[in-house]
Amino acid sequence: MVMGELVDEVDVAVLGGGPGGYAAAFRCAELGLEAVVVDADGRLGGACLFEGCIPSKALLHVAAVLGEAERAKEFGVDFGEPRISLDPLRKWKQERVVGKLARGLASVAKGKGVEVIGGRGVFEDSSTLRVEHEDAVRKVRFKHAVIATGSRPAGLPGLTLASDRVMDSTAALALPDVPERLLVIGGGYIGLELGTVYATLGSHVTLVEMTAGLLPGVDRDLVQPLQRRVEKLFAALHLQTRVTGLREVEASIEADLEGAGSQRFDRVLVAVGRRAESAGLGLEHTRVRLTERGGFVRVDDRCRTDDPHIFAVGDVTGEPMLAHRASRQGRVAAEILAGRPSAFDNVAIPAVVFTDPEIAWCGLSEAQAKAQGTAVKIAKFQWAASGRAATLGRSDGLTKLLADEATGRLLGVGIVGPGAGELIAEATLAVETAALAEDVATTIHAHPTLSETLMESAEQLLR
Ligand code: NAD
Repeated sequence: MVMGELVDEVDVAVLGGGPGGYAAAFRCAELGLEAVVVDADGRLGGACLFEGCIPSKALLHVAAVLGEAERAKEFGVDFGEPRISLDPLRKWKQERVVGKLARGLASVAKGKGVEVIGGRGVFEDSSTLRVEHEDAVRKVRFKHAVIATGSRPAGLPGLTLASDRVMDSTAALALPDVPERLLVIGGGYIGLELGTVYATLGSHVTLVEMTAGLLPGVDRDLVQPLQRRVEKLFAALHLQTRVTGLREVEASIEADLEGAGSQRFDRVLVAVGRRAESAGLGLEHTRVRLTERGGFVRVDDRCRTDDPHIFAVGDVTGEPMLAHRASRQGRVAAEILAGRPSAFDNVAIPAVVFTDPEIAWCGLSEAQAKAQGTAVKIAKFQWAASGRAATLGRSDGLTKLLADEATGRLLGVGIVGPGAGELIAEATLAVETAALAEDVATTIHAHPTLSETLMESAEQLLR
């Protein structure tokens, strides 16, 4: 790096230090390119590590422990009422989980020679980033840049209320308290995951979802067992319902729920989606173009934007906004920058909702097959017939496989049940590598494990 008048010259400047950004920078460094990461918070990890995937999974683990303890009563083990201390819980999440991983990432960056520059980066042109941090300004001249600025929680259109009691996912993950009455607006990933955390910790959770079902777009066969569980765990579930008003009234929030009147809550969690972080980056000084819908940075399957010097990866480039998609794209961008043949051409991107039961899927869904006119054979294996599920006291799962009718090639897999998020790995490998139903059916799966449900459903496809 050439220093002088606070100008850095690098091969690759990565804007944003989340899973897309650090994956890109690390891979660049491995391939011999000099890379820096510019991050507003001056650290690696992004929303995933500090305000998303990792802290939410830590809290969901706590919820799972509480859920298991409750279920243990069925087989004669009663631990008594749990006593939950929020301070040690927050400290564990923050220091032992998030902090440990953040320190790990910082040391990997150091080991690979990737510098992290703290400050907000704005493009001055297609080869310069101006980085502002407090009163200091630093310029980074690059041969190529990778935009990896991610996304932020979307607000409720027309219903913004500046109150500490109205939280987005970041505020809810800080676990300010366990409110007696919590309103969750949005029945997607975040509403269900954090609703589960708070309900298990003791809140009376009311969930309001605008569409006719939870997790719109996800296979109903997978959603049904979760919905049954949520109906028991939450105090109320209102589908096809809109919130038309929010007011702060006497240390509470009064919400108008269409068809369910006005109700008071101690806190509200707004989880109605995320928006691309593409504004205010100075993109107008480059040739980068945004999509008309969603304001995503337009990219091709090599993660190239309309500007030949600038690439983009992760949430800022569109759906699905998932950390593992971002990190794969980050690696692809780095490989292309290093002159290697690479493309973001994966056919299967797994998705996991870490609720209880978990839901996971990859590849083609039944609805998509129908919509695009693909003839498929479908197998459904109910976990009631799984020995392992019985030993866990969990027969409420389902494994569903879709295979091409003509060739038997596996096209899609959906799983609902405890551990679905781990089981989907085998399914993703099968779909990605064009495995046939026969390959999965004839592969020996350890007994007794839940993975046998994949083998059993593949066997069904051969009949
Ligand atoms: P989401 O898109 O998953 O769900 C938003 C939900 O809110 C939808 O069901 C939608 O119909 C509903 N909604 C929208 N406007 C509404 C309104 N006015 N009133 C009531 N309901 C309304 O979004 P999210 O849960 O905020 O999560 C954002 C993104 O973050 C996800 O799409 C996902 O990509 C990512 N995420 C992933 C995970 C994971 O991988 N486990 C976890 C959390 C978040």
